[in-house]
Amino acid sequence: MTEASKTDEFAIIARHFAPLAAAQPSAFGLTDDAAVVHVGSGQSVVVTTDTLIVGVHFLPIDPPESVAAKLLSVNLSDLAAMGSRPFAYTLSVALPSSWGSDELDQWLAAFARGLAERQTEVGIALIGGDTVATPGPLCLTITALGTVATGCELRRSTARPGDAVYVSGTIGDAALGLRALTGELSGLPNEHWKALVERYRVPSARTALGQSLVGLAHAVIDISDGLVADLNHICTASDVSATLETARVPLSAAARTVVALHPELMLSVLTGGDDYELLFTAPPEANPVVEAVSRELNLPLSVVGRIGAPLGADQSLAVRLVGHEQSAITAGGYRHF
Ligand code: ADP
Ligand code: MG
Repeated sequence: MTEASKTDEFAIIARHFAPLAAAQPSAFGLTDDAAVVHVGSGQSVVVTTDTLIVGVHFLPIDPPESVAAKLLSVNLSDLAAMGSRPFAYTLSVALPSSWGSDELDQWLAAFARGLAERQTEVGIALIGGDTVATPGPLCLTITALGTVATGCELRRSTARPGDAVYVSGTIGDAALGLRALTGELSGLPNEHWKALVERYRVPSARTALGQSLVGLAHAVIDISDGLVADLNHICTASDVSATLETARVPLSAAARTVVALHPELMLSVLTGGDDYELLFTAPPEANPVVEAVSRELNLPLSVVGRIGAPLGADQSLAVRLVGHEQSAITAGGYRHF
């Protein structure tokens, strides 16, 4: 692709697919984490789909059990970001035709074990899908369904100036875990290496937190593209700006050790994707309730910044960093194209 014809996934969605969704308010113009379909009697169904492709979203050496857990988690994460309770999913698999039948059997048995374990934890079940062979790479898609009380779904577009910006858990572990797996983090103690790799392979979806944020948070997104990129998504959808105080971004013990050894990797922490934590905004007076939710779920919820007034239309990034060089950040987020 030439530089001039380069485009990104969001431009593709906006140009080619959003017009197909224009007549259906359930789709939010394809600009949120999932669609919400009102089904009557005060309930809405939340629908999301995500695909993982070997070599793009996971490594060929990743165990099938953890690929299964990741595939479910990335979908459950979008349901969590809408504040919904998951109830079922469909599964489509495109399996390489080059695999022998033993290889196929073994891989699928381990993959199904991984799905079984994760679906039991969450209390959901598989309800359909599709199974095909492909001359291309292994490609796995889940469509996940959840429910939410109509009108209570959490959106990206409802942040307000003055809101505090929170993140759940710790940030950057998945991006550093990928670097650990590809041999880039030499000198790291083994237990830290393992902790980061585990977070890359098996991200946790914040299902309980998403439901607790209904009626509490103003705007919510899950962190799949990276902290800066996803905060920027909230800003764009809400027509606001944000400051991000990088010193307040919560790091795991393993990530702290990596950043102490390689300070330049703080950029990976801020812009790397795949954490699947929730990023949300709430008014300052809600902080005691947020702290109570944090205690109840035994999950850290940290203030990392603040929402401000809208910026001029010429600003490419609505997020201003405090404590890190801004110029390095302009292209935050993973780009498929
Ligand atoms: P996320 O990172 O939360 O999974 P994406 O960035 O993949 O979200 O997608 C952004 C929005 O665009 C979502 O609402 C998604 O449903 C929609 N979308 C993405 N690809 C397509 C497509 N091919 N057709 C219709 N909608 C799409
Ligand atoms: Mg999302």
